[in-house]
Amino acid sequence: MAQVETASGPVEADSLGITLMHEHVFVLNEEVRQNYPADWDEDQRVDDAVAKLTALAGRGCRTIADPTVIGLGRDIARIQQVAARVPLNIIVATGLYTYDEVPFYFKFRGPGSDGIDPMTHLFTGDITEGISGSGIKAGFLKCAIDDQGLTPGVERVMRAVARAHTATGVPITVHTHPGTGTGRDAVRVLREEGANLTKVVLGHSGDTTDLDYLSELADAGCLLGMDRFGLNLITPFDDRVTTVAAMCERGYAGSMVLSHDASCYIDWFPQQVIPIFAPAWHYEHVFDDVLPALSERGVTDDQIHTMLVASPRRYFGG
Ligand SMILES: [Zn+2]
Repeated sequence: MAQVETASGPVEADSLGITLMHEHVFVLNEEVRQNYPADWDEDQRVDDAVAKLTALAGRGCRTIADPTVIGLGRDIARIQQVAARVPLNIIVATGLYTYDEVPFYFKFRGPGSDGIDPMTHLFTGDITEGISGSGIKAGFLKCAIDDQGLTPGVERVMRAVARAHTATGVPITVHTHPGTGTGRDAVRVLREEGANLTKVVLGHSGDTTDLDYLSELADAGCLLGMDRFGLNLITPFDDRVTTVAAMCERGYAGSMVLSHDASCYIDWFPQQVIPIFAPAWHYEHVFDDVLPALSERGVTDDQIHTMLVASPRRYFGG
């Protein structure tokens, strides 16, 4: 029986249930937060996360995959506190989030005498030993390639992530930018590294309506992250659901997963503007609005089950 590591310890893959494959709990610049803490009340933020995730669990969601890694403010102790108080699984990630250069910490640390990037060792350690002495093990890997394409820093992280994946078997999520087709670069590099593409989510694929692009990446074996429901300024709601329905019609229900890329708290924006520019960008939008809209467009309950339950179980559980 395959086990999956979560912030509350290992669980059976079969028990993951309805899984949102890309939801953050906190997205922070930790250095800004520590130096300018005026906006931050630790207890209040943790309570708020517990309330929002408990409400999500009330909608039937059993698991979220949280791809918050270095560059997005990962704090495993804070996630551990939240996880202990909510009735759902939080699968945490390791990796590095950059669209361009690697942080200076890594810049002057090249491959060691073993020829292996020290990043690979850190990511692998998070998976096999646990994160920062917490005992919590990362359940997946994360890297990014945005509209700047495959910069040297982005390529270095992607190859380090791929090598940690081939060493451990843990799956990968890539932040991609479909507008510039960077999912293709991710597929090429990961394939070169010998990654199992059926264990790769190409995140933010749902930002495009280009069915041929999506079909090509699904045919390569990847899962398409239709994972920004609620970010309707990037791609309108109607386009997002119509694209998922059209891909189901083409026979790709087994190649898509659903999510919001939402968070309980993200410091990228002043808090008061988020409900104005993205009122539907929250954990429950899939249940409130997306699933009914998919059903109206002919997507069957079986196909929805595949996207929310079977594919996540297969991806994490093998
Ligand atoms: Zn994200």
